[in-house]
Amino acid sequence: MKENKVNILNVMFNSVNRENILNILTKRIEDNMKTFLVTANPEIVMQANQDHEYMKNIQQADYVIADGIGIIIGSKIIGDPLPERIPGFELMQELLKKGSDSHWSAYFLGAKQEVVEKAVENSKQQYPNLKIAGFHNGFFDWDSNQIQEEIKQLKPDLIFVALGLPRQENFIAKNLAQFDHGLFIGVGGSFDVLAGTVKRAPIIWQKLNLEWLYRLMKQPSRWRRMLVLPLFLMRMLQFKPKG
Ligand code: UDP
Repeated sequence: MKENKVNILNVMFNSVNRENILNILTKRIEDNMKTFLVTANPEIVMQANQDHEYMKNIQQADYVIADGIGIIIGSKIIGDPLPERIPGFELMQELLKKGSDSHWSAYFLGAKQEVVEKAVENSKQQYPNLKIAGFHNGFFDWDSNQIQEEIKQLKPDLIFVALGLPRQENFIAKNLAQFDHGLFIGVGGSFDVLAGTVKRAPIIWQKLNLEWLYRLMKQPSRWRRMLVLPLFLMRMLQFKPKG
């Protein structure tokens, strides 16, 4: 890959903005290429630094992009700023829109059965020319299921994997070699938002980069997970990337 990369605690991020990455992904789909993309936030980076297997799986990705203001701040701390934050949910929306305009097909894997069904139903309405190749809930037996086989047969252009971390990237990395086409992307809790069961922060909070605070207020049980943010920034202050 020719694009510049920025080393954030040994996860290599592509220095791309939203438009760049959309153009790259569109071209790869049109050229019938297979792509594994990770939208990484500080939680993913910290998890990868504790879990060697997860780090190896993330390193298999063709592209890693900055999802979360923490990553942007971290890149500034080391004097190698990434251009902008690209929230995974927004990238998914852009891909669905592009998919509808270009008559692509999509597969939805993850979340509870009623959530994935509703997410598919809403996508059909909002993106009428997108072909829904198939879907499956995210609670299945990893050692015995037909999901990989189904994806292999259907050859969807977009495969959204909403299993949360580290499951989604692990699932993609584990099975990637079997597929020969499609964009595989882990999208966390995005189906819950698409289904309308979880709301994103109001625009003003998003603009002020305070979406994390809004989520914390709505789901106070997340506070433990949020502790990762200050820890991540402290690690970045001490981090000296090689090369
Ligand atoms: N999820 C799933 N299978 C699992 C665990 C979680 O499909 O075994 C789904 C869950 O229903 C939710 C999504 O993964 O829709 C994201 O979960 P979580 O909020 O834990 O992850 P985050 O968005 O914080 O990465």
